[in-house]
Amino acid sequence: MENEKDVPSSGGGEGQERKLDFIRQMVADDLKTGRWNGAVCTRFPPEPNGYLHIGHAKSINLNYGIAAEFGGRFNLRFDDTNPEKEEQEYVDSIIEDVRWLGADWQDRLFYGSDYFQQMYEWAVELIRKGKAYVCDLTADETREYRGTLTRPGKDSPYRNRSVEENLDLFEQMRKGEFPDGSRTLRAKIDMAHPNLNMRDPIMYRIVHERHHRQGDRWCIYPMYDWAHGFEDSIEGITHSICTLEFENHRPLYDWFIDAVNEGRTDDGSGPWGRKIHHPQQIEFARLNLTYTVMSKRKLLRLVKENYVEGWDDPRMPTVSGMRRRGYSPEAIRNFCKRIGVNKFNSTVEMALLEHCLREDLNKTSARVMAVLRPLKVVIDNYPPDQVEELEAVNNPEDPSAGTRKVPFSRELYIEQEDFMEEPPKKFFRLAPGREVRLRYAYFVTCTSAVKDAEGNVVELHCTYDPATRGGDAPDGRKVKATLHWVSARHACKAEVRLYDNLFTKENPDDVEEGQDFTAHLNPNSLETLRDCFVEPSLTRAKALDRLQFERLGYFCVDPDSTPDALVFNRTVGLRDTWARIQKTQTE
Ligand code: ATP
Ligand code: MG
Repeated sequence: MENEKDVPSSGGGEGQERKLDFIRQMVADDLKTGRWNGAVCTRFPPEPNGYLHIGHAKSINLNYGIAAEFGGRFNLRFDDTNPEKEEQEYVDSIIEDVRWLGADWQDRLFYGSDYFQQMYEWAVELIRKGKAYVCDLTADETREYRGTLTRPGKDSPYRNRSVEENLDLFEQMRKGEFPDGSRTLRAKIDMAHPNLNMRDPIMYRIVHERHHRQGDRWCIYPMYDWAHGFEDSIEGITHSICTLEFENHRPLYDWFIDAVNEGRTDDGSGPWGRKIHHPQQIEFARLNLTYTVMSKRKLLRLVKENYVEGWDDPRMPTVSGMRRRGYSPEAIRNFCKRIGVNKFNSTVEMALLEHCLREDLNKTSARVMAVLRPLKVVIDNYPPDQVEELEAVNNPEDPSAGTRKVPFSRELYIEQEDFMEEPPKKFFRLAPGREVRLRYAYFVTCTSAVKDAEGNVVELHCTYDPATRGGDAPDGRKVKATLHWVSARHACKAEVRLYDNLFTKENPDDVEEGQDFTAHLNPNSLETLRDCFVEPSLTRAKALDRLQFERLGYFCVDPDSTPDALVFNRTVGLRDTWARIQKTQTE
C-alpha cells in the first residue's frame, strides 16, 4: 500500500454534496449521542523543531475545519517537550504559517511545557500507585531488554524497587543529582506485551538542557508518549487526531490516562480525586507527495547542507516555501478538500496539488505582460515619439477586476521563442513576412531580422497596421497567433526565478545502495533569468502579489523585490498535467 497512487474520486469540486469523511462522521455521531456533552475540541500540536510543511497543512485544515464546521474549538499547542531540538525561530514560523493558512485559535495558544509540573505530579502519582519505577539501565541495555517483535522482553532488575525508593530517586532525578542518561522513569506495564510500546516505556529522561520557555527549571523531560495524551487531556480535546503511525501508541496513551484515573471518580470522591478527561484518539493517513520529501529531518538537512536557500525556499514543500512560491491558502485548502482523509498511506501526485493551485490562481490573479527572454522589435512605420495607452483586461475570469492602460511605442520586446527565421509547419508565431497580433495592440508583420556576428537574431523589424488598433482587423482578416510584448521604453527590468521540482524522482527515497534522497535532487530546480522586462504597472505590485504573466504562467512578487530591483518567482506554468495523469491512472 505504501506507494499506491491516490486517485481521489473525480468531481469533489465545491458545491457538490460530499459524504462526510470518517473522522467528521465520528464527530457527527458523537454530537448525536452526546458523548462529549456537545463539545468538539480539536488541536494542532506541532513540535517546534522545524518549519511546517504541506502535510502539516493537511492536519491543520482537518483539525480547524472540524472545529469550525461543528461549532467547536481549535487550539494551537506546541508540543515542546524536547529541549534539544526546539527553538524560538520554529515557534514563530509555525504561528505565522498556521495564521496564514486561516486557522484561528483565538486566545488558545498553548505550550505543552506549561503542563510540566502537572505531568510531574501525575508521574509521582503513578509511582505511588506502584505503576512506575526508576530504572538504572543504560540506553543500550534498555534496548536489549526490550526484546523484539518475535522475542519478549526481560524485566529490568530495577523493576521491583519499593515505592519509597522510587519516590526518592525520582525526586533526586528532578533535582539534578544524576548525570544525563543515567536513569529513567518507566511505566510498569508488561515486558512481554505483543505491542512493543507497552514494554515498560520510558516516561522521563534526564537531560541537562535549557528549555526555550522553561529555562533551567527542569533537567528531567517527559517523553513524547507520556506527555502527548496528557496535553490533550488537560485542554479537554475531544477528538485527538493524529497520523497512522500513532495507532499502536494509542493503547499506551489510554493506559497512562487510565492509570491516573485509577482511584479517581467523576465527582472527585475517590482517594485520588476527580477523574481526568480521556480524549478519543483518531488516526488518519499522512500526506505524501511525489517529487518531494516530507520528513522534517530531511527538510532540515536540505536547509543545513545548503541544498536550498532556507526553509522558505520556494522549492521546499514547507508552508513558508509555498507561500513564497505564490501558493494561496485557498489553493492549499482546496487541495486538502480534494484529497480528503482516509486510513491508508498513499502518495498524492504533485500534479494534483498544482492543478488545485491553477484553479485558484486562474480565478484570482491579475493578468500582466512580461517578457522573460527579450527580443527587440522595431516597428518602422510607427511614429518615433508616439506613445499610446492601450486598454488591457485585468482578468477575463473576473470582470470586476477591470482594465488597465499599457503603453505601446515604436520599440518593443517580445519573447525570443515567439520568432523563428525558418518556421516549421506548426509554428504560427512570428516569422519573416508573417503577420501576428500583439495582444491588446495591433497586427504587425515582420519585414526583416537583424543578426549579430554569430548569426543570432538580435532585432526584428516590423510594420504595423494602424487600422487594427485593439487587436482586430476591420476587414475581418485573421492571424494565427497572439503574442505578448512590452514597450521597450516603458518596461521595467526584472529578475525572474523559474522553479521546477526539487527532485527528479517521484519517490526521492527510492535510492541505490549507499545513496540517500539527495542523490535525486534536481540540478535544474532553479533557473534565474536576470534580463527580463515587465510592464510598468508592476512597479506597484506588493510582496507576494500573485499574477499571471500572459502565456507564461503564474508568478508572484518575491518578498525581496523592490521597485528598483523587481524579483518574481514562477509559481507554476499554465499547462495542467493532472487531467492526463488521472486518465492514465483510471484506465
Ligand atoms: P516529527 O514528530 O518526526 O518531528 P512530525 O511531522 O510528526 O515530525 P509534528 O510537529 O509532531 O511533526 O506534527 C504535528 C502534527 O502534524 C501531528 O499531529 C502530525 O500528525 C501532523 N502531521 C505531520 N506530518 C504530517 C503529514 N505528512 N500529513 C498529515 N499530517 C501530518
Ligand atoms: Mg510528530
